[in-house]
Amino acid sequence: MKFVSYWHDTAPVFAGGAKGPVEGHYDVAVIGAGFTGLAAARQLARAGAKVVVLEAECVGFGASGRNGGHLNNGLAHSYLGAKAELGKERAIALYHALDQSIDTIETLIAEEGIDCSFRRSGKLKLASKPKHFEAIARNFEALNRECDPDTALLSPEELKSEVGAPFHGAMLSKKSAMIHMGRYVVGLAEAATRHGATIFEGTTVTGHYKANGVHTLQTSRGGVTAANVIMATGAYTTKNFTWFRRRIIAVGSFLIATRPLTKAQVRSVMPGNRTCVNTMNIGNYWRLAPDDRLIFGGRARFSATSDQRSDAKSGEILRTSMERIFPQVAGVDIDYCWGGLVDMTADRYPRAGFQDGLWYAMGYSGHGAQLSTQLGMTVADAILGKPDRNPMRDYPWPAVPGHFGKPWFLPLVGQYYRMLDRFQ
Ligand SMILES: Cc1cc2nc3c(=O)[nH]c(=O)nc-3n(C[C@H](O)[C@H](O)[C@H](O)COP(=O)(O)OP(=O)(O)OC[C@H]3O[C@@H](n4cnc5c(N)ncnc54)[C@H](O)[C@@H]3O)c2cc1C
Repeated sequence: MKFVSYWHDTAPVFAGGAKGPVEGHYDVAVIGAGFTGLAAARQLARAGAKVVVLEAECVGFGASGRNGGHLNNGLAHSYLGAKAELGKERAIALYHALDQSIDTIETLIAEEGIDCSFRRSGKLKLASKPKHFEAIARNFEALNRECDPDTALLSPEELKSEVGAPFHGAMLSKKSAMIHMGRYVVGLAEAATRHGATIFEGTTVTGHYKANGVHTLQTSRGGVTAANVIMATGAYTTKNFTWFRRRIIAVGSFLIATRPLTKAQVRSVMPGNRTCVNTMNIGNYWRLAPDDRLIFGGRARFSATSDQRSDAKSGEILRTSMERIFPQVAGVDIDYCWGGLVDMTADRYPRAGFQDGLWYAMGYSGHGAQLSTQLGMTVADAILGKPDRNPMRDYPWPAVPGHFGKPWFLPLVGQYYRMLDRFQ
């Protein structure tokens, strides 16, 4: 078994990184080379701005190269929940931003010729318990009428041709898609450099100050100045950016990928070949890879770390969950096991905007594989003086009380959700 992301291992290595010294003045400096930072850099460079991307590790090192591979439309919350919390107008605007994210990615990969196996697969939200299906049905009724007609409710009987496991019904979101995340992130970086952006890998931003309207960024290997800075650092935000560290909760999420399944196993496990999530609070998500591996993930443990030891522990928990749902593949070889940090906010709504002179987009709370491209481009457009399309504009983002970067409270949150899963 390899303890590396399947997406990293099966994508080409980005070869366009800048080699020279880290120096110079730029219109925009972007910190972080995940989807947010690269989509922003490409958008800015296309408009003629002089852009530099500063990445501590390598392109796609963070969540963008480690996720489940789902481009799901729809929110982290139920539509009814979001409507109650955000108001109808903003809930619909945010929902549609997620829809548009997938359209945006589809257009972008066509424009840039990125070969990343994009497919409008549709997503199934699968009811793990009968009363979960009642909640799904209530939510569907409002969602389908007010916001997303491309949804359908599926009975347990209708599910038989979709998933080889006994769920209690599902909601189908037809706009959802899937891609090869590793090939997408490398393609995005290549596109940004083709349009003129400079990308420095292995370059950690260690210090930042602003004087006379100009930002200075000190890095592990030199420094740059810039008129604007975009924070695109998500769950990997380093200690020196305290304001963001107090608001982003980095939560470990883990994945395993089986060896390629046989045609008969695919027919028995995932005949519908869609992205899937179940309704447990400590839930699971899965899909087939382009080469028919089952990629199965979840918040196996409530951990704030992802390293080989913690990933291996989580991999065992995930194998048990996978075999409980799909006993027909019990004992199948697991070829990959990896983890990453999810950029959660306390209320699980994303944030984008401008703070203390820094532009930012982050906090996608498990729905960032698609929204990060859209919000990265939205922030870039705001810098370019284009109309602001940010669905979370001016929404308050208070610090999490008692949180200074290391989420010490995660085990308690885990216990709470375990209890909910037992009784709800
Ligand atoms: C295991 C897992 C599964 C997931 N599954 C899904 C899914 O199926 N669907 C979905 O929609 N979302 C999913 N997500 C979430 C999604 O992947 C993220 O929300 C999204 O990729 C965030 O992209 P980003 O560019 O904002 O941040 P990232 O991709 O995390 O990039 C941030 C980058 O900033 C760099 N950085 C940080 N600080 C500094 C600094 N000081 N100097 C220089 N560089 C710095 C980091 O090295 C990192 O490369 C998942 C996440 C994880 C971890």
